[in-house]
Amino acid sequence: MTENVLIAGAGIGGLTAALALHARDVDVTVIERTDLRPLGVGINLLPHAVRELYELGLGDRLSRIAVAPAAVAYYDTDGALLFREQRGIDGGYGYPQYSVHRGLLQMLLLSALRDRLGPNAVHDNCELVGFDESDGCVRVHTSSGDLVAGALVGADGIHSCVRRRIHRGPDPLLWSGSRMFRGAVDGEPFLDGRTMSIVKGANGVDLVVYPIGGGQLNWVVMLPEAQQGPLPGDAKWNRPGDRSEVLRHVDHWNLHWLDAADLVRRTEPVLEYPMVDREVLPWWGRGRVTLLGDAAHPMYPVGANGGSQAIVDAAVLAEELSRDPVHGLRGYEDRRRPETAKVVEANREMHRAGATQRPDDLARVTAKYRTDTKADRSHA
Ligand SMILES: Cc1cc2nc3c(=O)[nH]c(=O)nc-3n(C[C@H](O)[C@H](O)[C@H](O)COP(=O)(O)OP(=O)(O)OC[C@H]3O[C@@H](n4cnc5c(N)ncnc54)[C@H](O)[C@@H]3O)c2cc1C
Repeated sequence: MTENVLIAGAGIGGLTAALALHARDVDVTVIERTDLRPLGVGINLLPHAVRELYELGLGDRLSRIAVAPAAVAYYDTDGALLFREQRGIDGGYGYPQYSVHRGLLQMLLLSALRDRLGPNAVHDNCELVGFDESDGCVRVHTSSGDLVAGALVGADGIHSCVRRRIHRGPDPLLWSGSRMFRGAVDGEPFLDGRTMSIVKGANGVDLVVYPIGGGQLNWVVMLPEAQQGPLPGDAKWNRPGDRSEVLRHVDHWNLHWLDAADLVRRTEPVLEYPMVDREVLPWWGRGRVTLLGDAAHPMYPVGANGGSQAIVDAAVLAEELSRDPVHGLRGYEDRRRPETAKVVEANREMHRAGATQRPDDLARVTAKYRTDTKADRSHA
């Protein structure tokens, strides 16, 4: 059935899926709406995702562009340590955790795919606009004409067109009530140079800051400003944010080991994104179509699982399709849908618990998150 798989979307999930399918001798093509530039700022890959990239032979290249955090540590606004837990190899996992620039990660995956499949492996500036299933194949309508494939994987992100076409009912973005201001900027290493730091400010304001390789520091400031509910406006990854809104909250902090206000002042551009997800879907696909990554299970970007779960999806999809070309799409969904639904819920819970500054609560929340998301399974 799946003699040729067409993946819509050359993001982190779509590119990894193409590499994983190719590694298992499944014929694959990727289409991408944009002209593929290294967009975004920092992203974190947990050991269960890093393991899959190592399996694809990308471990060395990844380690050269990323930083492997040794710990996640929580601080108050005077820079005093509240709680610390080790991560990656230092935390006893079998693989490192990596903090990396999302755009550089995407370009690494793209260049590996082009090396392995040839220069035309990804058709860029080619947008999926619809599809029909008939005569034992999927006819995919794109901005550059029709393509025919044995299966279609919608890896087209949080605003997925494939998802909209197979789930016709209401499927709104659900807003946590927080906005995230983000940026990456050159900066000296702080603390031991391998600590992902979370500063707990007043009224639920959090600063998350960590090195991402290339001498850059990535930061995110979360500002709670409304009750959970419908999102006013939309969610765009590259929307510019107003740095003065962030400075208002951090300019009196005195961390000693990092000048948070200076970091924000020097960052160009400051970006803004609402913390959103969507309701968990009862099914991802029928027949020859399925979803992957944010298209299937958009989640709050807390817990470092957005990109990580997309990468695990990619590995399982390839495994199931190579094992059973007829029922592989459903086998993939049966394994991944319940797992990712738990992560979506765990991220919501982690966000709700976020205002606490008590060390024992922080220890409890992070331990529960690890259990709920089965992160423990990649321990050595
Ligand atoms: C521009 C951008 C910047 C981001 N920046 C960050 C960041 O700084 N930090 C972070 O944690 N996460 C960021 N993300 C999200 C993060 O990449 C994902 O949450 C995660 O990696 C899951 O990846 P994904 O492949 O499912 O989705 P994405 O990485 O979002 O990839 C989806 C891809 O599908 C393409 N696409 C969309 N519609 C169509 C269509 N109709 N036809 C063909 N192609 C289509 C998009 O252009 C995109 O390349 C960003 C996403 C994007 C698109």
